[in-house]
Amino acid sequence: MREQPSEKRIQNFDSVPYGYTKEEVIQEARRCIQCEGGPCETHCPVSMNIKKMIREIVRGRFEEAFFTMKKDNPVPGITGRVCPQESQCEGVCPFHQTKNGINIGKLEAFVADWAMERGIKEEFHIKEKPQKIAVIGSGPAGISCAVDLRKWGYKVTLFEALHKAGGVLQYGIPEFRLPKKVVDYEVSYLSEVGVDVRLNTFVGQNITFEELRRDYDAVFIGTGAGAPLFLRIAGEELKGVYSANEFLIRVNLMKSYRFLEYDTPIVCGKRVGVIGAGNVAMDAARCARRLGAEEVHIIYRRTQKESPAREEEIQHALEEGVWLKELVSPKKAEGSSEGWLEELELYRMKLTEADQSGRPRPVKIEDSEFRMELNTLIEALGTTPNRLFLNRASELEVNQRQLIEVDENMKTNIEGIYAGGDAIRGNATVILALGDGRKAAQAIHEYLSEES
Ligand SMILES: Cc1cc2nc3c(=O)[nH]c(=O)nc-3n(C[C@H](O)[C@H](O)[C@H](O)COP(=O)(O)OP(=O)(O)OC[C@H]3O[C@@H](n4cnc5c(N)ncnc54)[C@H](O)[C@@H]3O)c2cc1C
Repeated sequence: MREQPSEKRIQNFDSVPYGYTKEEVIQEARRCIQCEGGPCETHCPVSMNIKKMIREIVRGRFEEAFFTMKKDNPVPGITGRVCPQESQCEGVCPFHQTKNGINIGKLEAFVADWAMERGIKEEFHIKEKPQKIAVIGSGPAGISCAVDLRKWGYKVTLFEALHKAGGVLQYGIPEFRLPKKVVDYEVSYLSEVGVDVRLNTFVGQNITFEELRRDYDAVFIGTGAGAPLFLRIAGEELKGVYSANEFLIRVNLMKSYRFLEYDTPIVCGKRVGVIGAGNVAMDAARCARRLGAEEVHIIYRRTQKESPAREEEIQHALEEGVWLKELVSPKKAEGSSEGWLEELELYRMKLTEADQSGRPRPVKIEDSEFRMELNTLIEALGTTPNRLFLNRASELEVNQRQLIEVDENMKTNIEGIYAGGDAIRGNATVILALGDGRKAAQAIHEYLSEES
């Protein structure tokens, strides 16, 4: 896949890959040998009919390829760009072993973009049903649940706290990885299919959870995990220290990289440290480079091998001049008399036996402290569900991590209330959230069919 050279792309927020041409996409699809059993399909959490999509691409029938994808996946332009394909569909492609696996994600993105540019729309033949369903949250979990239920004929109202729909797709993942034109277009599918989308509506504040329980036949909770976790070290309150959430929301949702044209400013120093090494950390580090930071260090207590980020993201970050500082962990931050961050003190770490996550456990090396000069520090340590909603839905059973408890059908402890996505998993992936939404829609459909 052709992409913007790294020295050029760190000066803009435009998409990194240029995308396939028609000839290139057919050539790539032709390499597929249509394996028996379709391992790529069985390893897709929404069981997309990938083999058929590829056959249609080979024939140049992009419209048919598009409808094939849309049957199982409401947002293929998004998943094509951000799914961890290397551990799903592409990871089980027989060519993957030789590092030459079929680029399934990029094929998917090509077809979705082709359809978007031509305004290709599905025809819906919806048989209306009387029951009403409320969906809370417009991230991938809420989108897939709302779309499936609406297609079955239910009256679906989706409540979103923010002024734009899409959840993390809109406010977390940067433009150069996921253009917002694609997010806006794929999210507009909700209205196209007839879901009533209510923006700027925080359930628990503008409307109560009790009202939804009273006025709707079933409720799906896809509220995500939007509250950041913090290190809890000295100096964390200094100016110049951000949670990745705040940093990325300023950049992506509030468009601070176009400050003056947009209202929200951002202060990003020349020497930046990012704590953590997942997708969120890579996104924050790459944004910092684009905001003019000269040195950006990913500060990670394990090594690159254990990083949970997508391979492509790590690769792109390194190409863009981001440094990966392995086996180090922050001890405390220190600042100037005006309260601005100036230095971070760190420990060196070593790896020992595997912990619960299956990865080697990092432990501090005694007397190994050293210092780094930094003027911006971004903490990307993971997130947890926002208590603002949970406090006002106190009957819902949650576990110790504040994740909503569900059974194998995504049903919570309350009759008629279902949940999925990051609200039940913590930090997961777009495709897992989409899969949860679909599963919950199926369960809600069965529940309401039994009732009537
Ligand atoms: C920076 C970043 C990069 C990522 N990169 C990737 C990647 O490359 N690949 C990948 O697969 N995954 C990635 N992820 C993870 C992925 O985005 C999430 O797992 C996924 O978005 C979860 O979907 P969700 O629908 O459960 O929640 P979310 O996307 O978080 O959406 C929840 C929505 O609910 C709304 N909401 C919350 N409470 C209320 C309320 N009370 N009332 C109304 N609305 C409410 C929120 O405003 C939000 O819009 C990334 C995450 C981040 C933060």
